[in-house]
Amino acid sequence: MFDVIVIGVGSMGSSACYYLAKKGHKVLGLEQFDIPHERGSHAGQSRIIRKAYFEHPDYVPLLNRAYENWKELETDAQARLYHQTGIAYFGLPGSDIIKGVKLSASLYDIPVESLQPHVIRDRYSMFKLPQGFEALFEADAGFITPEKAVRLYKGQAIKNGAEIHTGEKVIKWKNEGRYIEVITDKNNYHCQKIIITTGAWAGKIIPGFDDKIKVTRQFMAWIKPEKESDFTPANFPCWMIADENKPGCYYGFPFLSSPEFGEPKGLKLAYHYPGKITDPNRVNRETVAGDMETLNYFLYKYLVCGFEKLSEKTCLYANSPDENFIIDKLEENVVIACGFSGHGFKFVSVVGEILADLATKGTTDQPIGFLRASRFEN
Ligand SMILES: Cc1cc2nc3c(=O)[nH]c(=O)nc-3n(C[C@H](O)[C@H](O)[C@H](O)COP(=O)(O)OP(=O)(O)OC[C@H]3O[C@@H](n4cnc5c(N)ncnc54)[C@H](O)[C@@H]3O)c2cc1C
Repeated sequence: MFDVIVIGVGSMGSSACYYLAKKGHKVLGLEQFDIPHERGSHAGQSRIIRKAYFEHPDYVPLLNRAYENWKELETDAQARLYHQTGIAYFGLPGSDIIKGVKLSASLYDIPVESLQPHVIRDRYSMFKLPQGFEALFEADAGFITPEKAVRLYKGQAIKNGAEIHTGEKVIKWKNEGRYIEVITDKNNYHCQKIIITTGAWAGKIIPGFDDKIKVTRQFMAWIKPEKESDFTPANFPCWMIADENKPGCYYGFPFLSSPEFGEPKGLKLAYHYPGKITDPNRVNRETVAGDMETLNYFLYKYLVCGFEKLSEKTCLYANSPDENFIIDKLEENVVIACGFSGHGFKFVSVVGEILADLATKGTTDQPIGFLRASRFEN
């Protein structure tokens, strides 16, 4: 009998296992693939982390805690995960990104610099920015390395006593009231509580969620710009650009070179907007027509220098209906976290802690009311 079984040990699940084990609970983590792996939502070397959250200011208190908790993991594991490069936001003054960053920054006193046109021209001469574009710079931002974070959470969870099984898929679970039975393709287990963090597979295992979580195929590429030295982390931050003609935004990272960051090498960029709807078990991982064209639109429009494509990858978004996360108790002994909608990784360090508290104490000190599942009930 386990205190808690965590179903899905990817981003959120690995962090939940760590917090549960660290607090002395008897935890079993079940993962259908390896930890980490490339078939879910955490592959691709880098994830942006930033505080002046344009999506919704209510995320800022969670981000303050997330920053603290990333440091806790770095200390425990004696490793570096957060790379502070700052982030530059570009867009028309009326764009959701520029308006949203300013709103969160003013509500929560987050230092964000509004750049004068001559500063934009000097600092970002590698970009051709359309007339009227504004630029904001947030210094306490950068990126986290996702595969390494998941690996370290798993390692630290095991060090603190967690049992973690890879290559074991949960087929179903049954709430028997006094205990929950979890049935996998290898075994049956019993526990007091379960936490379901199955990412793109959420709809397959959380009753009633099949129509709530829309899984989309996302494409990212790594390029080598002609003037590579302009784009190294020392000279170039993370960035987001709101194009006037397209919803969502383009975003990317400085040029990262192995060996510090491993493969793939290059300047990674992607388009943050839900892609084609897919099934997580039947995703086409090959590059298809349209993938690179979407990024070429950006590259030819905004990049001053030439470039060469180095590599590409597909990854999955698990989108909730309003693209905000879902973190809640489904029943008293069943906790769920899903619908991270392509912007969840920076929160992994706080979500794991929240899930551990919801499962073991029934409540959390973090303000997650706006993320409850019941907002979709009518
Ligand atoms: C291309 C791309 C770029 C992104 N960029 C950013 C960014 O810059 N900043 C940011 O903050 N976020 C970003 N994100 C989003 C972020 O990575 C995700 O929100 C986050 O990884 C979701 O975590 P998760 O735990 O829900 O999913 P996952 O990490 O995929 O974990 C779910 C796990 O559950 C396992 N599982 C599923 N079903 C079962 C089962 N039945 N039995 C056992 N195991 C099971 C899966 O195998 C998987 O390992 C990006 C995502 C993508 C795809």
